[in-house]
Amino acid sequence: MPRIFLSPPHMGTDEAAFVTEAFDTNWVAPVGPHVDAFEAEFAEYVGAKHAVALSSGTAALHLALRDHGIGPGDKVLVSDLTFCASVNPILYEGGTPVFVDSERESWNVDPNLVEDAFRARASGGNQFKAFVPVHLYGQTVDMDPIVSLCEQYGVTIIEDAAEALGATYKGKSPGIFGRAGIFSFNGNKIITTSGGGMLVTDRSETAQHVKKMATQARDQAPHYEHSEIGFNYRLSNLLAGVGRGQLRVLDERVDARRAVFDAYVDALGDLPGVEFMPEAPWGRNTRWLTCLTLQPDAFGATPEEVRLALEAVNAEARPVWKPMHLQPIYKDYEFIGGDVSSDLFARGLCLPSGSSMSPADIARVVDTVASTHHAIA
Ligand SMILES: *Cc1c(COP(=O)(O)O)cnc(C)c1O
Repeated sequence: MPRIFLSPPHMGTDEAAFVTEAFDTNWVAPVGPHVDAFEAEFAEYVGAKHAVALSSGTAALHLALRDHGIGPGDKVLVSDLTFCASVNPILYEGGTPVFVDSERESWNVDPNLVEDAFRARASGGNQFKAFVPVHLYGQTVDMDPIVSLCEQYGVTIIEDAAEALGATYKGKSPGIFGRAGIFSFNGNKIITTSGGGMLVTDRSETAQHVKKMATQARDQAPHYEHSEIGFNYRLSNLLAGVGRGQLRVLDERVDARRAVFDAYVDALGDLPGVEFMPEAPWGRNTRWLTCLTLQPDAFGATPEEVRLALEAVNAEARPVWKPMHLQPIYKDYEFIGGDVSSDLFARGLCLPSGSSMSPADIARVVDTVASTHHAIA
């Protein structure tokens, strides 16, 4: 049986032609017409004034934090339930992450806990210099309360929208609610350039500064003059060509992922102990990954037993992200919250969710998941 991957790349029809064009015109460099066009097309898609194409989502978050001046002693509030790349760049700059728990309604940060965290520090405490809300698994954070709290307490928002390209919050794209937002085109994301990222912002100073830092921070001069530390973080013109093709099919990819989710819900949603990740009322979830939680007593199997059963039929499932406050590298940092993120981790599972899944692929997953229930119950 061919392997069913969790979230494999799914090329459209124009990517190869764009790459060929880059070859034909010899723009095989981290600069060129596809980079410019990809940025313009992406900015228009998400509704931001500027977009800067970078080598990864991690690089984009790093430069967003650096542009904002995060440094030693600065506290940055960040979602607890996420991938480590939401947090590592805070440490690159010597900042101190503080983790905040999820709410069950969206699996994203709980605005009530954010308010508690801000209020506790408002009276002479060390207020957060930034907040990095993460839009998880294709679902947007409830941004309205977050935006007003951050305005009230003077905390800058930098959104990690790496998993939520194509999603909406009250009709708008994530990534455009704060000083900057970041996206990822890693191989497993909803669209991919094999690897790549994008920073979006309405601030022209931020866009200019990020572009400069991403290209070794060269000053305006005929020779090589440098007055700040730079990085080599620009996206290749070849990969930007892939990105342009992928952006054209993004909306189709969202529809396809949502159809995969719907097929899973139709087939498995009534089994005892199965609960799918909710779709929050404020937006459209792309269902980048179909996630569910199991009540092992009611279902008759643990998430790990289901994962192994899928592995046995060559289908790739994964646990939900392990919360940052439980990670060995981050266990000594402050965590605000309770047991929501740890419970979602303990009982959660992400099913194969690719937009190119066939009905037979979905049936293989569904039958296997259902069989773990019948075998044990
Ligand atoms: C994938 C991802 C990133 C990092 O993106 P890369 O392009 O892989 O560097 C950051 N945050 C989250 C939540 C992600 O899922």
